[in-house]
Amino acid sequence: MSGPFTTRVLDHGFVHLRDSMPSLTGQKPVEGLGRGDFRIEEAARVSTSHLPNDVLNEIGSEREETRAPEQTKKLIKYMFDHEHATPFEQVKLTFVAKLPIFVARQWIRHRAGAFNEQSARYSKLPCEFYVPPLERMQSQSTSNKQGSAEQLTEIMAKGMQDLIHRSAGRAYDEYESLLANGLTRELARMVLPTNFYTEWYWSTDLRNFLGFCKLRCDSHAQYEIRVYANAMLEMARAVAPYTVGLFCERHGFGGANV
Ligand SMILES: Cc1cc2nc3c(=O)[nH]c(=O)nc-3n(C[C@H](O)[C@H](O)[C@H](O)COP(=O)(O)OP(=O)(O)OC[C@H]3O[C@@H](n4cnc5c(N)ncnc54)[C@H](O)[C@@H]3O)c2cc1C
Repeated sequence: MSGPFTTRVLDHGFVHLRDSMPSLTGQKPVEGLGRGDFRIEEAARVSTSHLPNDVLNEIGSEREETRAPEQTKKLIKYMFDHEHATPFEQVKLTFVAKLPIFVARQWIRHRAGAFNEQSARYSKLPCEFYVPPLERMQSQSTSNKQGSAEQLTEIMAKGMQDLIHRSAGRAYDEYESLLANGLTRELARMVLPTNFYTEWYWSTDLRNFLGFCKLRCDSHAQYEIRVYANAMLEMARAVAPYTVGLFCERHGFGGANV
């Protein structure tokens, strides 16, 4: 399962761009500008009494606006650099993701958005948990108390991977045994560790999405959330390629295009 709007992430996860506003259907970028970029400009220009031509036509106005793509880019750049941020909120994004619970706990701290999550009260969780790949089996950093340092030796990494696997598997066996003995699902789930997967919808706007990416694409963010943030940033590029490219350039992330 992989395509322009779906990316497999970690061992059992994925993230999918479900929808956007403006919609991507039939979109053809114009000189590096997508519908999302034009919506940002459109929203900003209402402050100087400019309306889009299709709206002017519908209200029977004779007025017509013409703007060169360079003017649109200049305006977006100005607003981005001067934190005139609300026009960026006029672009909306909805993602569906499957992710480990410990990643979800970091992600949900971003309050400016709407979440709907799978309920382990409502149905039994499948036996799906995250085990880091060998190259991710790193030691604790001593310089960054929240970070990871060098890779463990292969023999140590393999042993620890096995331990994580066994421990999660055992927890799942205990979960099933509690359910089989009649304990309610809402309590039985307590024995599952946070590397079990959950699924959710997340809707937010481009301003807050870029705020999320600024923090979570950064090298200080934990690898396991960074891979989701990077995948979503790439997908958002289809909606507002110029703005996302500008964001990447300003924050030193890959894929700057301005
Ligand atoms: C590397 C890293 C390490 C972290 N470590 C920890 C940790 O150890 N412990 C911990 O608890 N958290 C930690 N966090 C989470 C962090 O404190 C934030 O909760 C999280 O990054 C969400 O950021 P935010 O508040 O900017 O986002 P959002 O909640 O999406 O808010 C977006 C913006 O809206 C505005 N806003 C939203 N709500 C309010 C409000 N109530 N009042 C004023 N302005 C508001 C702010 O400008 C904010 O930046 C960490 C985050 C990162 C990236």
